[in-house]
Amino acid sequence: MNPRANILVTGGAGYIGAHACKALAQSGYTPVAFDNLVYGHAAAVKWGPLEKGDLADRRALEAVFEKYRPAAVMHFAAYAYVGESVQDPAKYYRNNAVGSLNLLDAMRAFEVDQLVFSSTCATYGEPERIPITEDHPQNPINPYGATKRMIEQALRDYAQAYGLRAVALRYFNAAGADPEGEIGEDHDPETHLIPLVLDAAAGSRPHITVFGDDYDTPDGTCIRDYIHVTDLADAHLRALDFLSDQPGFHAFNLGNGRGFSVQEVIEAARRVTGKAIPVQMGPRRPGDPPRLVGDAQAAKSRLHWEQRLGDLSKIIETAWRWRQREGR
Ligand code: UDP
Repeated sequence: MNPRANILVTGGAGYIGAHACKALAQSGYTPVAFDNLVYGHAAAVKWGPLEKGDLADRRALEAVFEKYRPAAVMHFAAYAYVGESVQDPAKYYRNNAVGSLNLLDAMRAFEVDQLVFSSTCATYGEPERIPITEDHPQNPINPYGATKRMIEQALRDYAQAYGLRAVALRYFNAAGADPEGEIGEDHDPETHLIPLVLDAAAGSRPHITVFGDDYDTPDGTCIRDYIHVTDLADAHLRALDFLSDQPGFHAFNLGNGRGFSVQEVIEAARRVTGKAIPVQMGPRRPGDPPRLVGDAQAAKSRLHWEQRLGDLSKIIETAWRWRQREGR
């Protein structure tokens, strides 16, 4: 692919999408962010144009393809609140599933045949074995995971029928911020552990509530696989390279390969920030499996992806630095 090519990045104003835009620009591509700015931030779009639009608006989508003639698409735009997806599944099926199908139609109309899709470990549902490999059964337990799995299936079918080339990247827990402090995690509402722990460290929240300490894990709190967002972004670039000579549909896990408990995250945050972090024990959050850890060997061997910022302290340190730079 022409290294100066335009790459359409749906959700390019969001947390992971913005980090991918930076990685694309560093490799010489022009990232074109397409984002409805419902959850994304215009200020996070720094490495290429921002086109404000919604995947539901097929005309707007086609106009962007017409204007930029992208060589490939990275598709991040999606709603991603698991709890909300249970309360309001229509919102998730419409935005995440129908929106993605609109995007695939536009790609076909403009003969763009390469896609990197932001998928999730939530497509696996309750893990039957740990670490989770890509051949683990996909039985999502919430509509968010179901919409992502549906689109993976569509990509498989479109690859077979229309010659689409697609890589689905199944992320575990994205965390951290750009090591140069240019972008970071800023969700509203915030539900993720690390930013909430850092809020408690900074005093903008009174404490962090630990959702359950009676799980069958060494310290009783849930174990998750936290992966640095810059490492995630880098994997998207590798996936783009991979697609240049690999037809068909492919799925890869992106995780740390290591799990950290909620308690370990809080302790690491205390060390990194030097702050006291008040903790309150709370009940379990419905739908939380005790342990989720991914096996990312396939991404390492086939995409030649390497994790550079896997250390939990590094993840927390970059998030903390960005937060402080933002003056929060
Ligand atoms: N968690 C917690 N308190 C919070 C938010 C999260 O104890 O205020 C726990 C949650 O139960 C899970 C882990 O932290 O075990 C990571 O949760 P997060 O929402 O960040 O990501 P998820 O694993 O749900 O994708």
